[in-house]
Amino acid sequence: KQGGNGSGNGSRILVFVRLRPMGKKEREAGSRCCVRIVNKKDVYLTEFANENDYLRLKRLRGRHFTFDASFPDSTTQQEVYFTTTAELVEAVLQGKNGSVFCYGATGAGKTYTMLGTTENPGVMVLAIKDLFNKIRQRSFDGNHLVHLSYLEVYNETVRDLLSPGRPLILREDKHGIVAAGLTQYRAYSTDEVMALLQQGNQNRTTEPTRANETSSRSHAILQVVVEYKVKDSSNNIVNRVGKLSLIDLAGSERALATDQRTLRSLEGANINRSLLALSSCINALVEGKKHIPYRNSKLTQLLKDSLGGACNTVMIANISPSNLSFGETQNTLHWADRAK
Ligand code: ADP
Ligand code: MG
Repeated sequence: KQGGNGSGNGSRILVFVRLRPMGKKEREAGSRCCVRIVNKKDVYLTEFANENDYLRLKRLRGRHFTFDASFPDSTTQQEVYFTTTAELVEAVLQGKNGSVFCYGATGAGKTYTMLGTTENPGVMVLAIKDLFNKIRQRSFDGNHLVHLSYLEVYNETVRDLLSPGRPLILREDKHGIVAAGLTQYRAYSTDEVMALLQQGNQNRTTEPTRANETSSRSHAILQVVVEYKVKDSSNNIVNRVGKLSLIDLAGSERALATDQRTLRSLEGANINRSLLALSSCINALVEGKKHIPYRNSKLTQLLKDSLGGACNTVMIANISPSNLSFGETQNTLHWADRAK
């Protein structure tokens, strides 16, 4: 495939894989590790749980994958941030939009990677921290403004995670597609951000049957907008704006198996329309198609100005090491492989 935005046909999407450590429950259930990462690049599926998995593996010939980088389970949050996202933060400060997605089955480590914990903050927090550091180091005072918005797409309904309430309506105006009434939180420092995002994450939709668990069908989108003033070549002061979108996607389980069906029958089966639409857009971008079907879902409408074209797009595929998740891991690796 062709690489580089603007060179070749397709948009270049950087694709990474992150393996999480084996969990306590998995160990107690007697699971073995079925993934091996070599040279921070190559991913091997090394074992299978049963005969069915063995047959799938043979049919799909999916034993070995290679990505821009693959992170073993010992990789720190900082390393993930610097390898995947630091350059996008730099680009946003040049007025260029970008987006980073975490894709994977429920329990694979998406929220850990994006949000993280107070002790080990994830990409969202580290990106904002880095952004403030870089602004502070700038040689000019451009009156930098940083605004955060944090929203959820659940069952094709958009909600404000910073100010929960009625669903938001998407409108198209001269700036593109906007969620009317969405909170734009003016951020002054990093300190306040972790608490703000954790609170926002608490506001994500939960299933009635599992009241404390975020629904596996909920997408969380953090948008960081940086605005500043700069002199152009003829010495006029102009406003420059860059936007970074960081997305903790819904669980990918069931999404691939049904790839071939129509969206209509998918909705009946309660499959995630936004996740499928995102896959279609990414495949169209990678293949260099002229028409990118952004209109097919709320998620892709919201990200229209941050995905493809001259934007930087990064995908982090999260996987579990356990052979009990073999099928999901293989699906995720195939999906990520197609996004390259
Ligand atoms: P997802 O959001 O994909 O459903 P989570 O991020 O909630 O998955 O991860 C599932 C569990 O695994 C959580 O308890 C989380 O803290 C833990 N976990 C995930 N990734 C890591 C990691 N890299 N290091 C340590 N623990 C992790
Ligand atoms: Mg999660």
